[in-house]
Amino acid sequence: MKRYLQAVSDIGEVPLGELVRLGVKGLIFDLDNTLAPPHSETAPPATLRFLAEVRRAGLAAVIVSNGRRPRVERLGRLMGLPVVARARKPFGRGYRWALLEMGLKASQVAAVGDHFLTDGLGALYQGIPLVLVDPMTSEEDFLVRAARPVDHILRRLALTRRERRSPRG
Ligand SMILES: [Mg+2]
Repeated sequence: MKRYLQAVSDIGEVPLGELVRLGVKGLIFDLDNTLAPPHSETAPPATLRFLAEVRRAGLAAVIVSNGRRPRVERLGRLMGLPVVARARKPFGRGYRWALLEMGLKASQVAAVGDHFLTDGLGALYQGIPLVLVDPMTSEEDFLVRAARPVDHILRRLALTRRERRSPRG
C-alpha cells in the first residue's frame, strides 16, 4: 500500500471500506483518546459498535498503547482485542509485535491514533499508513498535553504536504 495519511474527526469516520480497497488487512489502534477516554475503565458504546464494523469488514486489529499494563489489558478484554501495553511509541517494538500478532506486513496494515508525535511518527517510521483522529477529550496526561502545540503543527504540516502531493487525496 502506498503512503497514506488522513485526518478524520473520530473513529466512526475511519474509512474502513476505502482501507480495505487499498489492501489493508489489519488495524493498529492507539487506546487513549482514540478508542476510550484517558483513565476510563469502560469501552464506550460507539467504540464497541465501530469495532464490530471493523470485524465485519474482515480486518484484524490490535491495540498498541503507551499506557500501563493492567488497565490496557482490561480494556483490551472489554474490546475483544489483543494489546501491547507500555509500547513506548514512537519506537517500533509495539508495532513489530502487533504485526507478528496479526501475521501481517507493514504494507498490509494501517494505524489509527490521535497523537501525531507518538502514533503518527511511530507508524510512519515503520512505513505504516495512518489515520489521525481528533482526541476524544481534552483530558490528557501532562506530557501529552505539553506536546500538543508541536503535535498540532506537525499534524498540519504533514496533512498539507500530503494534499500538495496528491490533490485528489
Ligand atoms: Mg492517544
